[in-house]
Amino acid sequence: MSTDWDVVVVGAGIAGLTAARVAAEHGLRVVAYDRLTPGGQLVNLTALHEHPGGTGPELVAALTAAAEGAGVRLAYAEVTRVHPGSPVRLETSGGEVTAGAVVVATGLGPGRLGLPGEEALARRGVSTCAGCDGPLFRGRAVAVVGDDEWTAEEALELAGWASAVTVLVPGQPRWSPDRAARLAAAERVEVVPDATVTALRGEGVLSGVVVRTADGERALAVAGLFPFVGRRGPEGLVEGLAADAQGRLVPSGGVLVAGDARAGAEQSLTAAEADGRAAGEAALGALAASSGSLRIVDPTHGVLPEVDAAPVGAGSTATWTDVALFTNSKPNATELLRGLGERLQAHWGLPELGFAAKENASVAAEKDTIDWLSQRFKMVLVAVGD
Ligand SMILES: Cc1cc2nc3c(=O)[nH]c(=O)nc-3n(C[C@H](O)[C@H](O)[C@H](O)COP(=O)(O)OP(=O)(O)OC[C@H]3O[C@@H](n4cnc5c(N)ncnc54)[C@H](O)[C@@H]3O)c2cc1C
Repeated sequence: MSTDWDVVVVGAGIAGLTAARVAAEHGLRVVAYDRLTPGGQLVNLTALHEHPGGTGPELVAALTAAAEGAGVRLAYAEVTRVHPGSPVRLETSGGEVTAGAVVVATGLGPGRLGLPGEEALARRGVSTCAGCDGPLFRGRAVAVVGDDEWTAEEALELAGWASAVTVLVPGQPRWSPDRAARLAAAERVEVVPDATVTALRGEGVLSGVVVRTADGERALAVAGLFPFVGRRGPEGLVEGLAADAQGRLVPSGGVLVAGDARAGAEQSLTAAEADGRAAGEAALGALAASSGSLRIVDPTHGVLPEVDAAPVGAGSTATWTDVALFTNSKPNATELLRGLGERLQAHWGLPELGFAAKENASVAAEKDTIDWLSQRFKMVLVAVGD
């Protein structure tokens, strides 16, 4: 099967860059597409919590250098549709490409409340990046919407600039007792559980929100709003692939999904990195399974019946064997090829190494033998001993 790439990775966040690097380190031809700059969510993170990676930009630099060092091609394009199969076909903003395997690592979309006027107010008061936009709200009041560990950290970060940070929790907080204690101790931070934002206020720029709690509705004057809820996965990107309620993909049928985009993902840097590593290894396995086995063949011995009997079309090559190691069966040549075969099998992660040879035979370089070899194998390595 001839494809543009062995592996296409969709999304170059921590999961995608890790998957791409691991696959490339195994000698595969890998491209990682991103519709923005590489790094994904990490680009927005000044401080990393529960990960030893330094700052977000430092970790992006390290991940990118490691991927490119392993031979990954980083490409700037949006993947708009993935058609699974053999080969996988991908529609991108730069044209169509084919691959032996695909890893979907798109992460989640930005936080959204789903309220009228929200898109128009994005970057006009509505933001999802405390590290980037926090300084714009120095001395002004902001609200944060969310219930998880990272919402708590973003609120604490914003408290370094804002005059007041109201954390609106849709239900009850899910963050750890340690984070709850830090929020409680923080000056200028108030946590409001069971709060729903019902409307946004502002002409051109945000001026406030309407919040409903058990006590009723009230207006809250804020210059900034940071929604960390309503983030959705890439539902619909891959033809035929099911998604969960959050639009995150359920891997099946050989389509690999890594990081936040995967149904059930933990949504942390460590988990996304581990996911990426596993997907890179799995891509290798998927390609090996489709590329067949490696077999050492000595035509003087007579080949295995199933090989000999299989029809060969003009100009075709066998599908179950990519490489023939062809020896005249002299012991030294046989040993050389057996060693070479084992190395190739390990390098390509092939499931099977076959060996068929007869002791002390020799073969004439006749037309039939040459035809047979050239039609059945993509590569023939020859060693002749005496
Ligand atoms: C506010 C916030 C703070 C966080 N803080 C922490 C923290 O301190 N510690 C921690 O462990 N975790 C933290 N997390 C979680 C962590 O950032 C994520 O779990 C992790 O970054 C997910 O990585 P990913 O590679 O799966 O996805 P992402 O980082 O989202 O990367 C996905 C990439 O895919 C690209 N992409 C998407 N669709 C396409 C497409 N169709 N074609 C091409 N490219 C596409 C995007 O541009 C993006 O670059 C935080 C999350 C948030 C929201």
